Amino acid sequence: MVSVLLGKTGIRVEKNGFGALPIQRITQEEAVRLLHQAFDGGIRYFDTARSYTDSEEKLGAAFGGGKRAELFLATKTPSQTAEGFWKDLETSLRLLRTDYIDVYQFHNPPLCPKPGDGSGLYEAMLEAKKQGKIRHIAITNHRLAVAREAVESGLYDLLQFPFSYLADPKEEELVRLCAEKNVGFVAMKALSGGLITNSAAAYAYLAQYENVLPIWGVQRESELREFLSYVSNPPVMTPELSAVIAHDRQELAGNFCRGCGYCLPCPAGIDIPTAARMSLLLRRSPTQGWLSEDNQEKMQRVENCIHCNHCANHCPYGLDTPRLLADNYADYKTFLK
Ligand code: SF4
Ligand code: SF4
Repeated sequence: MVSVLLGKTGIRVEKNGFGALPIQRITQEEAVRLLHQAFDGGIRYFDTARSYTDSEEKLGAAFGGGKRAELFLATKTPSQTAEGFWKDLETSLRLLRTDYIDVYQFHNPPLCPKPGDGSGLYEAMLEAKKQGKIRHIAITNHRLAVAREAVESGLYDLLQFPFSYLADPKEEELVRLCAEKNVGFVAMKALSGGLITNSAAAYAYLAQYENVLPIWGVQRESELREFLSYVSNPPVMTPELSAVIAHDRQELAGNFCRGCGYCLPCPAGIDIPTAARMSLLLRRSPTQGWLSEDNQEKMQRVENCIHCNHCANHCPYGLDTPRLLADNYADYKTFLK
């Protein structure tokens, strides 16, 4: 078994974390069963967020009883005010059925919260820690500059950031910086929002970074089984897996949509994370489902774009989203002929 030490938090868990965003899409009964299977399989780090609708409630139903002390719960607040911070924290504690949260994260803030910045957010974190309601102060981000600032500030115990074998050298450098500063590193989107389809290659790449804990977004028992199998049999980098990575890096290089959804909501009702990746999805997964009547209707909404630029202004990767949508829609239509 390979374990990861999450920097100055002192949390040590096996190199498999559970990302609880997808359990929003299954029933509570299914979610509880899946979470128990994950726990029985050795997973001890569970990551959710106040914004993931009923995900916290499902985690609370699964672990609110006797198992709490044996695992680590991480959740997030998107609040931009101290008042909202406290409201979110109290709600999370109630839904998770616990009196403390191990890792409490600012959820992708546009700027790095700091003491004295006028928002009162960091002060609220310190007070929550003093009250014993949270154990470690953390931040998630999709913006490299904000992430670097948080790590260098010395104010954060842990960073959660997208990291997969599609990472560029600056992102790989961020992981090394976290090791140097003793800041825990949790990797979200290790499968790059569904674009990486070879989980063994994804795992083998991350295995090269001993300070990185991947959290896998799990919704199905088959997916969970796949990740649990890596506990007893961790994939190692082979020439075959290296070739997969080299091929994907070439195919997915550049300005592709990561499917993070930070550009939403779109006033024209466009499902941007899907529509802006459609060309890739059509080529990297079974085509038929994407061409269903339902998906055709969704893609057609791209025609309703009012060019308000809300999406481009909120994309942490600086993408020209309306352009990307138009290109993907044009490509999509060629598949319908
Ligand atoms: S520019 Fe178009 S796609 Fe982007 S948010 Fe506005 S309407 Fe939606
Ligand atoms: S366009 Fe940008 S913000 Fe929107 S889903 Fe893609 S990467 Fe995320």
